Parts: sequence; structure tokens; C-alpha cells
Amino acid sequence: MDIFEELNISRYINAHDTYTVYGGSRMTDETIESMRMASASFVDMQELQQKLGCAAAKLTHNEAAYFTNGAAGGLTTAAAICMAKGSEYRFARLPQIVPGTASEIIQIHCQHNAYDKAVEAAGARIIEIGDADETLEFDLEGVFSERTAAVFYYASMKYSQAALPLRDVIRIAHSHGIPVVVDAAAQLPPVENLWKFTDMGADMVIFSGGKTLCGPQDSGLIFGKMKYIEDCIRFGAPVHGVCRGCKTSREAMAGLYSALKQYVEMNHRENAHRLDEIVKIFANSFRQCGVDTRIVPYGPVGQKYPRLFLSVKKQGAAQRIAKTMREKHIYVGLDLDQNAIYLSPLNLNEAEQKTVLHELKAVVEEELCDM
Ligand SMILES: *Cc1c(COP(=O)(O)O)cnc(C)c1O
Repeated sequence: MDIFEELNISRYINAHDTYTVYGGSRMTDETIESMRMASASFVDMQELQQKLGCAAAKLTHNEAAYFTNGAAGGLTTAAAICMAKGSEYRFARLPQIVPGTASEIIQIHCQHNAYDKAVEAAGARIIEIGDADETLEFDLEGVFSERTAAVFYYASMKYSQAALPLRDVIRIAHSHGIPVVVDAAAQLPPVENLWKFTDMGADMVIFSGGKTLCGPQDSGLIFGKMKYIEDCIRFGAPVHGVCRGCKTSREAMAGLYSALKQYVEMNHRENAHRLDEIVKIFANSFRQCGVDTRIVPYGPVGQKYPRLFLSVKKQGAAQRIAKTMREKHIYVGLDLDQNAIYLSPLNLNEAEQKTVLHELKAVVEEELCDM
């Protein structure tokens, strides 16, 4: 049954990036097959969580791992675990803060972002340190108290300019006995990021399953130290409580495990070369007068893959191009500051590359004609 066909739901090509509002990324047949297999039988979910987590950790040189329903669910779970500090009673009362619950989560001011709410959902109060220009070591040193649950750190390049380096955050927090949680939801590639932050000493590190990993959209992983992952399994979904809304299915867990395995084992050099080639083909097709082409070697949060920026030097051109492309059911990125549209190769198969190139050429030429 083709539901999109039957209900007249539009299909889009995603030349923008792995954004949730478009559906994120695309699963391989192998991943879908592992989900189908998982669906056929019932299991003890805790045993599945334990054994699959153990295997996922082994694949990624981590101590332990916990499957969740996404990076946002991972943030809520990690916050709740840090706040409860092993107490079943304190955990069960969240988001209420009973005496003895460490309710404060420290976050660097310039790293404030849309996912703060996933942390606050656990009942935490976010305490900001630093300002828009800088964060100093004493800002972090001075903030700790018996109310401190953890420091949450965002690995995105977008939020790094005025932040303390993660290494320093871990050193300082650990000297006060405070755990550090890293949100690395979209920080792939490079594949080494799956273990880089835990290797640096982070206590829990969160990845989205539905972005570059190409797992189910509603899946995610927390990697980390055994002590914290054990608490995730003990308190986290499907156990009742504040994390219950973070529950994931055996199908999504199996799918993400399969996707993770494929991701870790793929030939990354070959894949990087493939992505470079896509972007180069696009760039070469637009190197003509009036179109400015620029290849940027990183994704929106600093991931290691190329994107192509295209601009026609004309007021409002980028906005018009993005709008027309969308009407043609193709998502492209729009950078208003640079009056540019941009393309990411991550979600394009060969047929789609041809379609995007063909359609984009027509739209750009139309802009150039009216000059
Ligand atoms: C995408 C993203 C999330 C949320 O990931 P989901 O898996 O969609 O829940 C959280 N944090 C950051 C920094 C992200 O980029």
C-alpha cells in the first residue's frame, strides 16, 4: 500500500539537510529488514536494551549505551538521571523537585538552543554561565553547589565561539564531582565522534539516530559510563516516570543498531569521496558568469561533509530560488545573510541528483535572464 499515493501526500527531494521537518534521513533496505524482523517476535525489553546497548557500545569503543527515541529524548533522560543521582524516590517524583534532588543543570550561555526545553522537561532548572562574548574558567568553577546535577555541553561548531573548550569543562566539572553530558546529536561525520567525546571523559554523549546515522527518525543513543547507562536502563523508558515519553520500540532499536553497524563499517573514505564528487558536479554546472559558487567543507554544525553555496548577485534572488525549488518539491537551504542557497549531498541518490541539477539550472537561468 502506497499511503503517500493513496492520500495524495506530496513527495519531496531533500537537498537541504537531515532536518526532522522533512523526515530527517533515509534508511537502507538492510535497516528496514532488521526492523521487520524485530517486529515479528516479542522480547523482554530490558534484556533487549541491555544486550543491544552492550553491542552498540562495543561497536563504537564505548563503555555502555542506551537506546532512546531521539536526541531530545536522550537529553531529557540524561537530565533526569543526573538529577536523581541513583535515588529511585527522587527519580519517581520528577519533574517535582523533592529535598535532596540536584535540580540545576549548568549550561554555557552561548550554547542556549531550542533543545533546552528537553532538559527542562525533566524538571531541571538551567543555570547559565558566561555571556555572548566569552566564558571563563571561574564562571564554571564558581557555579557548583549541592544543587548542581550536571553540566550539559553542545558539541556544535555554531555554539563554540564563546564557550569553554569541552576538555576544560570536563576537567573542571570532574574536579567538583559533577558529570558532563554532551549533546552531539548531529556531529557525524567523522565517525570517530561516536567515541571522541567519551574518550575525552564525558559521562554521557547523545546522538540522534535519524540524522547522519540513517536510523529510524524516532531513535537515538546515549553512550557513556556504565554507572550512568545502568541508571538509564533502571529508570529510563519504558519505566514509568518523567522519561516514559522517551520510550522507543524494539523495531526502532533494532533499526538503529543495524544502521549504526552499517555506518561504522562503511568505507568512510569512499563515502567522503562520493559526497565530494556530488558537490563538485553541481559546482561545475554553475560556474558561469553571474553565479557565485562556493564549496564549504563542513555541515551546518561543523560536521565533515561538503556543501555547495550558490548565489546570484541580485536582490532577493536566493529567496526566490529557494521558494521556486520548494514549489517543485525540492528542499534546498537558504542563507539570507549571504543571499545564497545551499545544497547538502547527504540525502540525494543518483536519480535525485539529476533532478535537482536539472530543476535548479532552469530556476537559476530564469533569475539570470531577468538581469
Ligand atoms: C537534531 C538535534 C537534536 C534532536 O534530535 P532528535 O533525534 O530529532 O530528537 C538535539 N540536539 C541537537 C543539537 C540537534 O541537532
